[in-house]
Amino acid sequence: MPAVILKAGREKSLLRRHPWIFSGAIQQGDGEPASGETVDLLSSHKQFLARASYSPISQIRARVWTFEDKPIDANFFRRKIQAALGVRRVTCDENVSNAFRLIYAESDNLPGLIVDRYGDVLVLQSLTAGSEFWKETLADLLLEETGLKTIYERSDADVRELEGLAPHTGILRGHLSSFVFPITEHNLRFNVNLQSGHKTGFYLDQRANRLRLRELAKDKDVLDCFCYTGGFTVNALAGGAKSVLSIDSSADALELCKENIALNNLPATRHTALEGDVFHLLRKFRDEARSFDMIILDPPKFAPTAAQAERAARGYKDINLLAFKLLRPGGMLVTFSCSGGVDAGLFQKIIAGSALDAGVEAQILEHLSQGPDHPISLHFPEGAYLKGLICLRK
Ligand code: SAH
Repeated sequence: MPAVILKAGREKSLLRRHPWIFSGAIQQGDGEPASGETVDLLSSHKQFLARASYSPISQIRARVWTFEDKPIDANFFRRKIQAALGVRRVTCDENVSNAFRLIYAESDNLPGLIVDRYGDVLVLQSLTAGSEFWKETLADLLLEETGLKTIYERSDADVRELEGLAPHTGILRGHLSSFVFPITEHNLRFNVNLQSGHKTGFYLDQRANRLRLRELAKDKDVLDCFCYTGGFTVNALAGGAKSVLSIDSSADALELCKENIALNNLPATRHTALEGDVFHLLRKFRDEARSFDMIILDPPKFAPTAAQAERAARGYKDINLLAFKLLRPGGMLVTFSCSGGVDAGLFQKIIAGSALDAGVEAQILEHLSQGPDHPISLHFPEGAYLKGLICLRK
């Protein structure tokens, strides 16, 4: 097996069990390992540290499969998959939902591999040279361990480029009669489009938060900003909201939102869909002195990495400040950031600044996060990206 020797002192992150080795930490390698090939990571004293997949092009040159001296083969991956499925068996309630994240890459000790389950279909996303190298083996193991028959591949995320991988989508195993079908989430139904839906089809990470919102929405006038296909909107209506106004810049998303309301036999008379830019419409509503009892802000990623944090902070500040102004006293702001580059502490500071500049007093009632099917490894904090706050305007 090829070995990669690290520079002196650069083994520290591995000793803390962080799974990444950057190109600058490498002193020398045995020739040039192939894309995705398994390599041994050795300290400058040639001590074994970990076994990893090699990414010849990426700045993240190696990702650890294991810190133990054991073979990386089908059996190894079977055990990792079994461990990940075991966690979901404990945390995911199949009586009320049938769509979950089954494997969350580094956070489940399988760097580069994302597997989501939508009903009887698995959607696989391979993001790195290592997961690509083992993709066929992983696909077979996934079917064996879940008992399912179909895998659709959605390896179309931009980050593949950094690994020198072209996008790839299509059926990897089995058959699909339709790319669009309904899933169940906490007893509500949502149509998911595996080909064109965001991420692998749906924002599974918000499942628990959508249920929480349902519990809080009764008799409220709700504004759902960045509504996409209506995850929060449908839950607000199901929770007995008096009215829901949903905004998205995508006309297609708004159509799907209306379909999802109909799919659940919820009252369309209480719903309005508005196509437009949230930044612009919140200003317009402020000028018209409109007000709401509950406002949801679930924008797309403003800052993928810390480098864009400052610009992102201005974006979050802008919409949250306007939202605070539109909230009636006693109203709730349910606000999210999915920017990896903005941590929970910074996000809370931005929201505090927004309330201050809006001239309102507010309290945090609850901190929200990604659901337990998106677990966070203690050694890989990068896996935590979704943070949310429920704030009460006094
Ligand atoms: N809350 C949704 C997910 C939101 S995804 C759920 O639970 O499923 C972000 C959405 O924001 C996308 O649908 C995208 O079309 C929309 N969007 C992005 N920029 C926007 C803008 N400036 N104004 C309005 N919508 C925007």
